[in-house]
Amino acid sequence: MLETNIQYLKGVGPKRALLFNKLGIASVRDLLYYPPRRYLDRSLIKNIRDIRTGDNVTLFGQVADKGLVRTRRNFTILNLLVSDDTGYLLCKWFNQPYLKDRFQPGDRLVVSGQVLSDHGLSMSNPEYELLDNEEAELIHTGRIVPFHPATAGLSAKQIRQVMKSALEGYLHMIEEPLPPELIDSKDLMDIRQSLAQLHFPDTMESLSQARRRLAFEELLYLELILFLQKNSLQRREVSTIIKASDWRNDLSSILPFALTGAQQRVIGEISNDIGRARPMHRLLQGDVGSGKTIVALAAIIQAVKGGTQASLMAPTELLAEQHYNSLRPWLSGLNITSALLTSKTKNKHRSEIYQGLSDGGVSVCMGTQALIQESVEFANLGLAIIDEQHRFGVKQRAAFRFKGRYPHTLVMTATPIPRTLAMTVYGDLDVSTIDQMPQGRQSITTKWTAEANRSKVYDFIEQQMEQGRQAYVVYPVIEESDKTELKAAIKMHRALAQDVFKDRRVGLMHGQLPAEERQSVMEDFRNHQIDILVSTTVIEVGIDVPNANIMFIEHAERFGLSQLHQLRGRVGRGSHKSYCILMAGPKLTPEARQRLDTMQSMSDGFKIAEKDLELRGPGEFWSTRQHGLPQLKIADLTRDAGLIGPAREEAKRILAGDLDLSQKKHLGIKTGLHAFHPEADKFTSTG
Ligand code: ADP
Ligand code: MG
Repeated sequence: MLETNIQYLKGVGPKRALLFNKLGIASVRDLLYYPPRRYLDRSLIKNIRDIRTGDNVTLFGQVADKGLVRTRRNFTILNLLVSDDTGYLLCKWFNQPYLKDRFQPGDRLVVSGQVLSDHGLSMSNPEYELLDNEEAELIHTGRIVPFHPATAGLSAKQIRQVMKSALEGYLHMIEEPLPPELIDSKDLMDIRQSLAQLHFPDTMESLSQARRRLAFEELLYLELILFLQKNSLQRREVSTIIKASDWRNDLSSILPFALTGAQQRVIGEISNDIGRARPMHRLLQGDVGSGKTIVALAAIIQAVKGGTQASLMAPTELLAEQHYNSLRPWLSGLNITSALLTSKTKNKHRSEIYQGLSDGGVSVCMGTQALIQESVEFANLGLAIIDEQHRFGVKQRAAFRFKGRYPHTLVMTATPIPRTLAMTVYGDLDVSTIDQMPQGRQSITTKWTAEANRSKVYDFIEQQMEQGRQAYVVYPVIEESDKTELKAAIKMHRALAQDVFKDRRVGLMHGQLPAEERQSVMEDFRNHQIDILVSTTVIEVGIDVPNANIMFIEHAERFGLSQLHQLRGRVGRGSHKSYCILMAGPKLTPEARQRLDTMQSMSDGFKIAEKDLELRGPGEFWSTRQHGLPQLKIADLTRDAGLIGPAREEAKRILAGDLDLSQKKHLGIKTGLHAFHPEADKFTSTG
């Protein structure tokens, strides 16, 4: 039986079973689905002679020498000199002195990492694998050797041996879960061969076939569980049906411009959704500056005209304040009452707002996460909107669902979620996309430059200001609580205000300012009482001042691509030609330079997001855990992005005629789904 406890496998036993448990392996099935972390294939191993600085390589060699160095302040560096037939490479590990005893001269090993040049070639904290004779021999003879993630007391080699005997004893018990038509139509390798090849591939090609099949299966289960969850939520939850009349006139009476076609289309999609009792769960995507706020406003007006309340939550106080300041005049023009609620709201005022929300006196509440505090109660919340949703976790998104009746929810984002991933990550959401910018937008010219050109940049800013424009100067204070970084921004402000631009009005904005001061600075900037706003990254999301046309970013190399894109999105919002100037520090890594080049050459937020993904690599960019999704074992949302769509389609097709997977031909899928997602029980058990 595949559910057999791992301890009964040959070479395991109760003691070692505990170590396997630590790796998340309890049964034989778990073991068979435990993929290697990497493979060693002679064809992937480089000779030291052939490697270059910056390469990411794997090398096979032996320990020539080692030494532990203690620096001042008691740091340690372990230096390991590794040689192959063609040269030497220095490997360094920092502050892991215990590693010293792990290596002996003559030991054979594999190291992989990025090559640095530091008096000759070196690697810092490379990944390594010590090889015994047998392994070295395997690699030597051209076998592909798997390395499974190991743990103290249980080496990759030991896992490999147990895996071998598990495959011999149990592989024939695995039944193909996928129906034959699916295997055929998607050209998939069968399950037994896939598992065999996953662990002990004959060739890299067969490995990739095996992985593709297993990844597809896993993504299919993921999509199935997401659909099932969504379906069950929608069956249980009921929202107020919102049907407002006349709201279109109301909206056009207050807007100083005509809606774009894309805005009209998504507003239509939303009206449709909220006109039903089934709760809306919709994601609104649109690049920075595409005009999402107006779409939110259109929905809010409908919600209120339809007899309910609406809320709009933003990730920062600054943005919540901006929404309040810009939407309130419009709303009150329509006799709609609104309030702003953040953690800075004064107690007395707060209790008035609470009162207004619970008795219905306040129709629209804007704010930060303060909106989803326990003590906030709405009389009849019909619509909950979350702006810049990527800044919130999935948890906050869910929180609204439990505040009173289930409101219709709309989440908005400008982000950096590549299209291919959005589907899976937001599998429980319907997606609307604004794919058109308001008319008359000028493109933004982006240039990165170095310190030597600073005074030229200042001259340019001055010229633009003479023409009546405004500028942002952003300083990279990422952690607002970091005092030293904040000081640098404040110092910068002083230097610009008192010296460089002493004839201009230079304002300062950061997250530590008291709320009133922040609001008045923003207001002054909006009303052009301030020419240059020196700011930390608090203005990164959402801020909208159309007359500002210059975004000057200090130490641009410290920012990630999506952040740079968001910052750049603060300009190019009016009819003036806009500029984004990126000042780079003196030491640029190759990746930083690539980011800056990318900003210079690309303007489409979605393309930039894809590039970001490519540069940063999957692990760092997107972890499923972080977004509250089930962990994936084999599939990788980045590498296997191309499989997500097909898996989703297939999941839809399967469930269309068989919502509880009770049909005989879906038995295998049901079993597999339950093995991957035990919680599937709730949705598919009919008994
Ligand atoms: P984002 O999608 O980044 O949240 P905003 O909603 O802040 O964008 O809109 C950016 C700017 O474009 C705002 O100044 C807004 O008033 C303006 N805007 C929105 N829609 C239109 C439109 N259809 N025509 C002209 N300007 C528009
Ligand atoms: Mg916005």
